[in-house]
Amino acid sequence: MSPEESIEDPRLQQLVDGIVRLAAGELSARIEPSEQRDAIDAVITGVNLLAEELGYIYSDLEDRVAARTAMLRRTQVELEHMAKTDALTRLANRTLLNERIHEAIQTGPVGEDAPAVLILDLDSFKAVNDTLGHSAGDAVLIEVSRRLRSVVRAGDTVARLGGDEFAVLIVGASAEEIMLIAHRAWEALQESVDIGTETVWTTGSIGVCIRGAGYSAEELVRGADIAMYQAKAQGRNKVQLFHPDMLNAVQERSRITAELRTAADSGQLALLYQPVVELASGRVAGVEALVRWHHPVHGTIMPDSFIGIAEETGLILELGRWVLHEGISQLGRWKRAAPELSDFCLHINLSAAELLRNDLLEDVSGTLAKNDIEPSRLVLEITESVLMSRGTGEEQVLEKLRALGVGLQIDDFGTGYSSISYLRTLPADTVKVDHSLIKNLESDLQQQKFVAAILQLISAAELEAIVEGIETAEQAAQLQAMGCLYGQGYYLGRPGPAAAILERISGSEPRR
Ligand code: C2E
Ligand code: CA
Ligand code: CA
Repeated sequence: MSPEESIEDPRLQQLVDGIVRLAAGELSARIEPSEQRDAIDAVITGVNLLAEELGYIYSDLEDRVAARTAMLRRTQVELEHMAKTDALTRLANRTLLNERIHEAIQTGPVGEDAPAVLILDLDSFKAVNDTLGHSAGDAVLIEVSRRLRSVVRAGDTVARLGGDEFAVLIVGASAEEIMLIAHRAWEALQESVDIGTETVWTTGSIGVCIRGAGYSAEELVRGADIAMYQAKAQGRNKVQLFHPDMLNAVQERSRITAELRTAADSGQLALLYQPVVELASGRVAGVEALVRWHHPVHGTIMPDSFIGIAEETGLILELGRWVLHEGISQLGRWKRAAPELSDFCLHINLSAAELLRNDLLEDVSGTLAKNDIEPSRLVLEITESVLMSRGTGEEQVLEKLRALGVGLQIDDFGTGYSSISYLRTLPADTVKVDHSLIKNLESDLQQQKFVAAILQLISAAELEAIVEGIETAEQAAQLQAMGCLYGQGYYLGRPGPAAAILERISGSEPRR
């Protein structure tokens, strides 16, 4: 074939056009074969075959790219899901909850059927974790999530905010329905949880905030949080609806915190002493130190209004240090004034955090030595909940305090969930039975049997019992008849200043 011939052959132009179309990606393009069956025709057939092959390869590639893209998308969705769910409970996490709340606020109504947030905090979860271990704790959290999910409606969001704190976003429900859901959540926690052979009760405190006009997502959550703290402060295990007045209470708390910081240094703290009395003789066997805050503006503030805040903020460490120093110095002054009182004891309340105060042991032994007081004359009252949930750190401190010769007393016994069998394992020598157990003691036969049984069990555990909150002669007589040796309460002596105690212990008529 000469060059001129080939240029003139129209099939060559078709061939060029075809290749250009194919090269442009038009893989379905084909070049018309001729009748000639010559070399050009062979090239045309070859190009068409190549185009066919390219088409296959291309569509195969397209399929693969589509599959990869779908896989990437799935992974992305999964990652997003993981980033927004809690790994343990599979509930929404804080991020997802916040997204949903923002959505609900943008689209939802204000007033009737406004969105609401519930915040739920378990009441004694730390004790479960500490006594039964973390896997038991995890099992409780999983069970709680299951129960929460079972009480909400399909459109609501249940989230775990971390630790033992949960939240629920409720949308499109009336105020009554919202409170009904909150109470159902509360009720769902009243049932015990079985973990292996153990049974635990984990009640919850629930705060509810229904969106009012102008509430942002943050304010909605904060309102529920404030209400939840209120529920805790009112004795836990309850549902509390947020009310804007509660914001004042929050401000009040931060004011108290700021002022409490300087209260000890500016001489605003004082101790009152309440007699611990031997029921048979009326002899004052010792006193319990109870702190008071004499506020320059608000007058005398009772410990129930500030001990909780001091514990939350860590101020309890300074406060406790002051109480220990002041109480033991006072014991020294009494000892010098009435040397015959060789076994008179001082009881001091110790909060959980104080057990882990770095210098507690040196402080206790140093202060006792400085005031020339034998360790056995100091009794530290520690609530049963603290003793129950003690970790190894607390355990060591308790052992060392015992080794020092200091008395340890279980305080508020009967208010927690401790089992009697646990009593034996507690590092204590005396038990203070809480005043709530002797309410109506005179009239309630059931209560009498119960208290008698408690006292027997305490003595079976080789511990000594003190009953507090004795307000009448009849109660004192009943308790004495049940074998209780020591008591405390308004009938036996109200908390009073140090001078009054000295008068009483060295004075004439013993009271009983
Ligand atoms: P608590 O240890 O259970 O102390 C007994 C509380 O019951 C005292 O209240 C006492 O005044 C009161 N009480 C005594 N007898 C009777 C009675 O016959 N009837 C009734 N209804 N109540 C009686 P207070 O002084 O208000 O103390 C409240 C709580 O504050 C104490 O409860 C204790 O947990 C805590 N607290 C007091 N002082 C201190 C302290 O120095 N350090 C620490 N960590 N906590 C303290
Ligand atoms: Ca006490
Ligand atoms: Ca008590």
